[in-house]
Amino acid sequence: MNRPDPRVPEPFAQNICFDPELIKRYGGRGPRYTSYPTALQFDEAFTAEQYEQAASLSNESGCPLSLYVHIPFCESLCYYCACNKIVTRNAERVDKYVGCLYREIEQQAALFDDDRVVEQLHFGGGTPTYLSNEQLCDLMTHLAGAFHLDTSDRHEFSIEVDPRTVDVNAIRVLAGLGFNRLSLGIQDFAADVQKAVNRVQSAEEVRALVEQARSSSFRSISFDLIYGLPHQTVDSFDRTLDQVIDMRPDRLAVYNYAHLPTRFKGQRMITEADLPLPETKLQILQHTINKVCDAGYVYIGMDHFALPGDELVRAQRNNTLQRNFQGYSTHSDCDLIGLGVSAIGKIGNTFAQNTTKTAEYEALIEAGTLPLKRGFAVDADDQLRAKVIQELMCHDQLAFAEFGKQNNIDFAAYFAPELTRLGPLVDDGLVTLGSEGIHITPRGRLLLRSIAMTFDRYLADDLNDGRFSKAI
Ligand code: SF4
Repeated sequence: MNRPDPRVPEPFAQNICFDPELIKRYGGRGPRYTSYPTALQFDEAFTAEQYEQAASLSNESGCPLSLYVHIPFCESLCYYCACNKIVTRNAERVDKYVGCLYREIEQQAALFDDDRVVEQLHFGGGTPTYLSNEQLCDLMTHLAGAFHLDTSDRHEFSIEVDPRTVDVNAIRVLAGLGFNRLSLGIQDFAADVQKAVNRVQSAEEVRALVEQARSSSFRSISFDLIYGLPHQTVDSFDRTLDQVIDMRPDRLAVYNYAHLPTRFKGQRMITEADLPLPETKLQILQHTINKVCDAGYVYIGMDHFALPGDELVRAQRNNTLQRNFQGYSTHSDCDLIGLGVSAIGKIGNTFAQNTTKTAEYEALIEAGTLPLKRGFAVDADDQLRAKVIQELMCHDQLAFAEFGKQNNIDFAAYFAPELTRLGPLVDDGLVTLGSEGIHITPRGRLLLRSIAMTFDRYLADDLNDGRFSKAI
């Protein structure tokens, strides 16, 4: 067992309070605010010309680039999964998609100046490591041929890894390709839970990968866990946490399983009677927070924890933490190019999303067009609200005078209706509201999205339609 890390700064260690009553009251559905506005506002009237114009303006700024590459394939279905993925063993289907991805890389690279440096790269899915080592090498060669990939210490190249699809040699290959961050999908180590969700992987296999990643100089290893899966109890999840803490990933994300079988067909394979009761889920969450913090992790926000030496903790302390499509991030100034089916990009003040249908994606690429489906041009009011939500979700506070000065507004006047709407949250102890600003209390830190929702001008239309997951 690991002891609490004496380097954990006291304010971080103490700055969270689990209040089951408040969580029950405020833990309903809501956006995760990896963007504002959320993708629900993206409009199909958006055109490739608008995107090209945004790219051209972005070249004038010359800011660094970030690439997101979506690999939608998986070898088998995890029953809890709500991702956009394709379960297949059909190699031809995969080859066709990868060929289209290469063409999209060329299309997109042609829009951006050659000297734009790619500081951040993320492979997500699906399962990026569904691709063979050779396919991943080819893909990186195409990216390096089309874009100026950063090779300095600043670069942050990450990949989501399904431990069942890689061995220690593959980890070495990924390191050789320039990846320096790994995110491993763990979910739970209990055998009965793994069987019930059709995702069986041993702790020993994961430990071997972690050890290889460390000796291959990966800068950061992140684990994803899920609570609320079938057969989980406080005791069973405690044993998983013991194993996880013993492996000491730099970052931990602990997600809530939302059972929505009418929306996600695979979830119908889960027997509802096996799911933990809502009270048990809350107890698992409370126990997880206590245990992980006692083990030396710092609560960042939402579902995320990190070790004190991790860049996320430093960024939160320096007020440079950001929220983007990968969750919490330390890179703020990049324009993001989304590559692959369903991928979302943000260029300047313009969001753009590729079609979510693979056949349509491939047809558009083959026709020589950008495979864009939807987009959104952010206006000045959206920008202000995005900054407010970012401040609250990353730094737990907002100073009216400073924010007003930076954005040329009188905060209290501009956001008067929103400050009134914060009233009940103040009464319930989630936030304090004074003449100088908003502070999120330790009780409110677990309910960040409920607080942020107060400033979302689009929300009324989107809530209660089942498209958002539950906050807790
Ligand atoms: S959880 Fe990951 S590996 Fe499992 S089906 Fe979903 S995307 Fe594929």
